[in-house]
Amino acid sequence: MDAEQLREYGHRMVDFIADYYKSIESFPVLSQVKPGYLTELLPESAPNDPECLQDIFDDILQKIIPGITHWQSPDYFAYFPSNSSSSWILGRNAQCWIEHCGQGWVIQGTASEAILVVLLAARDKILRKVGKKSLEKLVVYASDQTHSALQKACQIAGIFPENLRVLKTDLTSNYALSLEVVSEAISSDLSAGLIPFFICATVGTTSSAAVDPISELGKLAKAFNMWFHIDAAYAGSACICPEYRHYIDGVEEADSFGMNAHKWFLTNFDCSVLWVQASQENAVVDFKDWQIPLGRRFRSLKLWLVLRLYGVANLQSYIRNHIRLAEQFEQLITSDSRFEYASALFPPNDQDNGYKLNHGLLDAVNSSGKIFLSHTGISSCAVGAPLTEDRHIKTAWQVPLSDFASLDRIDIK
Ligand code: PLP
Repeated sequence: MDAEQLREYGHRMVDFIADYYKSIESFPVLSQVKPGYLTELLPESAPNDPECLQDIFDDILQKIIPGITHWQSPDYFAYFPSNSSSSWILGRNAQCWIEHCGQGWVIQGTASEAILVVLLAARDKILRKVGKKSLEKLVVYASDQTHSALQKACQIAGIFPENLRVLKTDLTSNYALSLEVVSEAISSDLSAGLIPFFICATVGTTSSAAVDPISELGKLAKAFNMWFHIDAAYAGSACICPEYRHYIDGVEEADSFGMNAHKWFLTNFDCSVLWVQASQENAVVDFKDWQIPLGRRFRSLKLWLVLRLYGVANLQSYIRNHIRLAEQFEQLITSDSRFEYASALFPPNDQDNGYKLNHGLLDAVNSSGKIFLSHTGISSCAVGAPLTEDRHIKTAWQVPLSDFASLDRIDIK
């Protein structure tokens, strides 16, 4: 493709993206097609000769888009956001072999990779001290709200499955890890001759947005010479606002800290920022050794563009606005006696029917295609899509309450 063709295709691509954003609200948020529908629509093999861009665009519109769940839709309230912003377009395709954003910081693809990388580093550090044969004695601590990425990382790192302590949390501590519970588990493992070596705390857990007590856990980890990782994949972005920074008080005790710029920081997937306590001995850091792959994408460029094109003030208002919208949704919940904030529709004395009731409501809402919510044991509406405004919050509330005959069958009174 020559420069003029690139210009022409680039313009058409930008038109295509702009048109998509313009009409995004006209699509069902959650894809309404059956799994596997695309196999019948697409050829079995890739074309031998080049095809024209218009044909490809047509295929995307007619065949691919119906199978897409629109994560950028302002009516998208499921899981956590996976943000895009227009600034990414400029930084999208750059490639670089190595890249870094300062001593101690390295950009990974995902929070899962970040957790794996630091767990491997911590494992090797302790094994150098206690000997390789002690792998079976190494113990990892986290809460039952911790993302499953930790369990996966333990599996890959060869940590014995019975040595991952998934410690119980409950509503009394807002689903945060209890220092007492962690201390007891460590003491009991030490008495059994095991080697506690890694604590993973979370700031903003996936299911409940719980915040583990960072400062206390950091001190505990230090006292027992353990690696302390903080997974702030989702909520870390909020720390750009000074008023939310207290959630990471004590972060200086951490050996590593990760946050996903691709979740709530307007940076396109993938961009997971990881800070690691760098050894002072190594004046030169080779970032290819701080990750799983050798080659690196130029992820810092898109983050840099987001920072420069938005500016800190706008990024702060962006986060504050989402928190305001979430509070608006909270008010709608608390003003309706049929709902209980933080625990959805569970009748306290009837857990089985409570689950049925909540799942019925969730199915009714999602099958409309109007908005998309995801389920969790304890809460469900995550505000974070860049285009979400007050009116979408109102609709999100009205969808379950008024739009569905199917809800009549669910006795929510
Ligand atoms: N940690 C937390 C707290 C998360 O919420 C998530 C995903 O939602 C992850 C880790 C995994 O993120 P990634 O997809 O970047 O691996």
